[in-house]
Amino acid sequence: MNKLFAANWKMHKTASEAGQTAAELLRLVSGSLKPGREVLILPPFTALAPVAEALRGAQNFFAGAQNFYPQKQGAFTGEVAPGMLLDLGAGFALTGHSERRHVLGETDEMVGQKTAFGLESGLSIILCVGEKIDERRAGQLAAVLERQLRAGVAAVPRDVQPARLAVAYEPVWAIGTGEVAGPTEILEAHALVRRLLVDIFGAAGMQMRILYGGSVKPDNASEIIALDNVDGVLVGGASLKADDFSRIVLA
Ligand code: PEP
Repeated sequence: MNKLFAANWKMHKTASEAGQTAAELLRLVSGSLKPGREVLILPPFTALAPVAEALRGAQNFFAGAQNFYPQKQGAFTGEVAPGMLLDLGAGFALTGHSERRHVLGETDEMVGQKTAFGLESGLSIILCVGEKIDERRAGQLAAVLERQLRAGVAAVPRDVQPARLAVAYEPVWAIGTGEVAGPTEILEAHALVRRLLVDIFGAAGMQMRILYGGSVKPDNASEIIALDNVDGVLVGGASLKADDFSRIVLA
C-alpha cells in the first residue's frame, strides 16, 4: 500500500500562489520521492485548476478538494458538486474534517452522505475522524472514533475499492496547536480504526490507508510515518510552504 502525504491548505493561497507552491513542491521533491509514496495537494476550490495544471503528468502527485456538496447539481447556492471537482482534475476529497464538523456544524449523518456520494461520483475519499480534548479526558476515544467511522461509511458499498477510501485520524486537540499526539496515542487510535475497518469491510479493511493528522512537522514526520498502521499523514500548517512540506514528504 502506498503511503499518502496530503497537504490541506485550508482557506489559504490565491490561485496564482497555489500554482506556484505546487510547482515549487514538485521541483523540490520529484526525482527524490521514495518508491511507494504519493503526494496529494488539497487547495481551496478557487486554486484547484492551477494546482492540477502544475502537477499534470507528475507520477504519484495528485490534486484534491477539501469539501463538496453531496448532489450532482441543483439549487444549492454556494456549493460545489463532485463532478465539477473531477472536471478540474481533483481525484480526491476530504470528508468530516474537524473544522467542518466543529466550526461549520456538519453532523455525522452529513459526513456519511458526503462520503458515500463522493465515492459514487468517482472521487477517492479521505474520511477524517478524531476526538476533542474533553472527549479524550472523559475516556471516550474509542466511542467517538467508532461513532464517527460507522456513521461516515454507513452508506458506502461494502465492496468499495480499498484504495479509494482512506481514514485520517486527527485528534482535534492536535490540529493547528503544535501539540502532536505521541506514538502511544497514535498507535492506539490507529489500531482502533484498523479493527473497525476490518469489522466493517472484512479483509479489504486491511488495505485501506489510515493517515495521521495533527501538527505534523518536518522534524516529527519520519517517526510518525514509521509507526504501525500509519499509512500517511494529513498536514495543515506545515504544508503551506513548499520547503517544509517537501521535507515531510522526503522524511
Ligand atoms: C489539518 O488541517 O488537517 C491539520 C492536521 O492541520 P495541522 O497540521 O496544522 O495541525
